[in-house]
Amino acid sequence: MNIIFLGPPGAGKGTQAKILVEKYGIPQISTGDMLREHVAKGTELGMKAKEYMEKGQLVPDEIILSMVKERLSQDDAQKGFILDGFPRTVAQAEALDKLLEEMGKKIEYVLALIVPDEELVTRLTGRRTCKNCGMMYHIKFKPPKVEGKCDACGGELYQRADDNEETVRNRLKVYHEQTAPLIEYYKKKGVLFEVDGNKSIEEITQQLINILEKK
Ligand code: ADP
Ligand code: ADP
Ligand code: ZN
Repeated sequence: MNIIFLGPPGAGKGTQAKILVEKYGIPQISTGDMLREHVAKGTELGMKAKEYMEKGQLVPDEIILSMVKERLSQDDAQKGFILDGFPRTVAQAEALDKLLEEMGKKIEYVLALIVPDEELVTRLTGRRTCKNCGMMYHIKFKPPKVEGKCDACGGELYQRADDNEETVRNRLKVYHEQTAPLIEYYKKKGVLFEVDGNKSIEEITQQLINILEKK
């Protein structure tokens, strides 16, 4: 299964991707997670990306594309993958099509999570992320069993630098201007599936499974 998760920041892409990873045994490829790893390690790429991420702007396509190309060529991605947070521009989507064609692959499902902006602001400003494994929590909607600690690995939870209201509003603006056009792009290709993302985590997972298993 070759899947793209499409949707604004806070729509639940990462949350749902992690559930599908467990269920289907294919890797989640999150460009945001990969970038944050580079930033944490202080690599050259990370230092370049950091200033964009802090402002809620998109990191330049060439940085993203070389990262994705390398990741898609790894062994674990050969039987399928879930792209989370990529592509984010029409130029990235076109580059992905070209890359996949060279690899003899294609996208089968674009799962678009639809959530209104005001709900997204609440979700993102209350999001907490595990420093160790990247698992997401929410102070109200998905609190950890022990405050400040990850249920999965015991790691420390932190608030992402870009999950403050000002940066969130900028990320939503960038989404509407640059990423939302991908809905039409994939609709034309006949691989788009729109899902109501303004439901509980469990209800959304069920809708996704219904699509992937054609129920
Ligand atoms: P969210 O899960 O809230 O949508 P991400 O973790 O996907 O956020 O992305 C965080 C930041 O990383 C983005 O605001 C952007 O600066 C950068 N980023 C992630 N993926 C991409 C991409 N495909 N193209 C450009 N920038 C990206
Ligand atoms: P994305 O990867 O699309 O940016 P996340 O999966 O990180 O989004 O979710 C954003 C925040 O919203 C997290 O704090 C997460 O726990 C919470 N969340 C995810 N799905 C739901 C949902 N269906 N209802 C309420 N909160 C949710
Ligand atoms: Zn963890």
